[in-house]
Formats: sequence, C-alpha cells, structure tokens
Amino acid sequence: MLRKLRLFTPGPTPLLPAAARAMAAADVHHRTADFRALYAKTLLALQTFIGTKHDVLMLAASGSGAMEASVSNLTSPGDKVLVLSAGKFGERWRDIAKAFGCAVEMVNAPYGETWKMADVGAKLGGAGGKDIRCVYLQATESSTGVRHDVEAVAKVLRETGSDALLVVDAITGLGTTRLDVDAWGIDVVIGGSQKAVMVPPGLAYLAVSERAWQRAAAAKSPRYYFDLARERKAAAKGESAFTPATALIAGLAAALDYIREAGNGDLAAGRNALIANAETAAAMTRAAAEALGLKLYAKQSPAPALTAIAPPEGMDSGVIVKAFRDEFAAVVANGQGEMKGQMFRIAHLGYYDYLDTIAIIGALEHVLAKVGAPRHIEFGAGLRAAQEAYAKAAPRLLGAAR
Ligand SMILES: *Cc1c(COP(=O)(O)O)cnc(C)c1O
Repeated sequence: MLRKLRLFTPGPTPLLPAAARAMAAADVHHRTADFRALYAKTLLALQTFIGTKHDVLMLAASGSGAMEASVSNLTSPGDKVLVLSAGKFGERWRDIAKAFGCAVEMVNAPYGETWKMADVGAKLGGAGGKDIRCVYLQATESSTGVRHDVEAVAKVLRETGSDALLVVDAITGLGTTRLDVDAWGIDVVIGGSQKAVMVPPGLAYLAVSERAWQRAAAAKSPRYYFDLARERKAAAKGESAFTPATALIAGLAAALDYIREAGNGDLAAGRNALIANAETAAAMTRAAAEALGLKLYAKQSPAPALTAIAPPEGMDSGVIVKAFRDEFAAVVANGQGEMKGQMFRIAHLGYYDYLDTIAIIGALEHVLAKVGAPRHIEFGAGLRAAQEAYAKAAPRLLGAAR
C-alpha cells in the first residue's frame, strides 16, 4: 500500500495547510508597513492565545532560545534559582542556569512522575528559601509525557511569601493545557512554533510580566541577541530587534486565524477547543494502549500534549519506532537520553483529528503484532477502546480546514 509520511512527534508537529500556503507567499521585507502590521497583529493574537495581558515577544530561535533568554535576562551570576525537574527539559533548565553562573537548587521527581508540592514548599519556605530569585519549570515535560501542576507551584510561591519569579516552559503546554497566566502569577511563559501552533520550528514566543521587566533591568548576566528589553522596544513599533523569521510569522498568523475560526471568531475559545482536541486524542490513545496491555509511562499525571507508552516487557522501544516508520511511514518519538528504548511517544498537540488518532492506533496494533509482542494482539481491541473514549468525550466538532 501507499505510505504517507506523517509526523506524530511532540515537535515538530504536522503543518497546518493554511500556514504552509501563507509561508510560501511570504516574500516580504521586514521593515515595511505591511510587515509591521502583520507583526503587531500576530503579537496581539499571541497575547489572547496565551491568555495574558503581559507583553508578548517573538524570537527567531527554537524554544530553547526563549529558555536561555529567561535565564540571561532575569538573573545575575551567583543568583540562587530553583529548578523543578522531572525529565530532559527540566534538566535543560538546570544546564542553562548553570551556564549563566546561577547557584542552582533542584527539586527532582523520577522520570514519569511529578514533584511533591511539600518538597517545593520545603525549598521555598526552608532555610535560604527567601534567596531564591527564580523558579524554573515545565508545564508539560515532553520527554516523559507528564503534566505538572503549575497552579499548585504558583500557590506554594504565594504561601511561602517567596518573591521569586515564576518561569514556565509551556512549549508543549500552551494549546494543550489550561494556564491562567496572569491570575496564577506566572512571570514568564514560553511557547514554540513547532508545537500546538502547527508551524515549523524556528520561532519562540514568550510573555513577560511587569515584575520580570523590573528584574531584567537590574539583572547582570551577559546577553546580546536575546536581549528582551531591546525586543520589547522594537515590538512596540511592530518590529523586532534583528531580522525576524518572516515566513514563520506569516505561517503563525494563519494558524492563529485558523484557531480563531475554530472558536467561531473568538481566539480564546478556539484555544480552548484546541486544548479539548488534544485531551480527547490523548484519552483515546491512553485507553487504546491499556486495552492492548501496554503500560503508560506517565501514570500519575499524563499530559494531553503527548502519550508516552512503555514497550512490552523486554523489548526495546526502538523496534516499535522503526516498525511504525517502515510499515506506515509514521514518525513517532523514541525516549530521550537515558529513556531511549524505554518508551515511544505519540503526540496530540496541534493539528491532529479523530482520523489521525484512530489511524495511529490501528497502526499500533499491526506494529505490535509484527514485532512479536509477547501477548496476543487482538485486532480491534485498541481501536474499540479509543472509539469508546471518543464517544464518551462527545467532543464538539470544529470546522474543517480548507
Ligand atoms: C520542544 C520543547 C522544548 C524546546 O525545544 P527546541 O528544540 O529548542 O524547540 C523545550 N521544552 C519542552 C517541554 C519541549 O517540548
């Protein structure tokens, strides 16, 4: 049979056709009135998409660029910071903070789990807790498929009287989980283009609170390309400090239009619909995996952004990843770092619909049968569980894309 190449990876995600068309037509110069209008409109739309009144900026970088900017602009060498880590992206916060000379305190949770709030409270409220200047965490840890409770962390900050800035990597959290950025007191929230907003990699975006701006003005870590104050000044005029990723911004504008249409003209409602979409696809996938006798890697607090599934006992997950690719040209993600071989990850964030989800589950049944899963694979068992999960969710149906 034909095999269509399909991405089921938690970044890059499938490209929205309308975004692809907008990018192909983006033959523009960035210091023009037309582009300034597009830039300003996109920043405004991102504000609504994120759900914040804070300043929003875009950077020509992958998501990690905005993570680095959130360290270099908010800290001085020697500053004590707290990193909440439970996977490879949490470890990235730790490594960036160390690179900029921060004194890094950690709260760790095992891979596949989330932190105990008592541990977070003990760090912030304990001896030396008042010296912590920033708290860095993920909303969803894409390397394990775990959703962290950002609201609970924000509450611990308030209860301990900490004045640390709260910095959230929501690169796979935005558009998949509810984040009440301003009400919870999130100072910096970061997104990336290749995740729920359905455009290719290369554009990071972030919202920055007034408190964070005050800190940035006094922070002494070195910075040049990722100078947020300079970007803020440029953004106020519909510009960026350096040459922006014009085509990606045109694509992002089209994607945000698409999300607004999904909300019948209300972008925040469209964002909520996108979240519900990911939740439904994730519920279908979890139900299918369990019906097929597979274990979920993130049991306690699974993220709607992606589902991490352990291979059958004794099998390297690379065998499954390869079979998906060879047999169906479907790209699913292996585990990262030490977790390689221990899971395969199927994404739900962004442009996935019912048929995509059912297809990858149907393919999973064939893949398991082919690689010789120890347990007999009854065709249809996973599909049935997924269909039941879909029927139970009874999702509101959104307009078809052109
Ligand atoms: C994708 C991702 C990043 C950023 O990775 P880049 O490759 O720099 O775009 C950071 N954090 C999380 C949770 C991610 O999923």
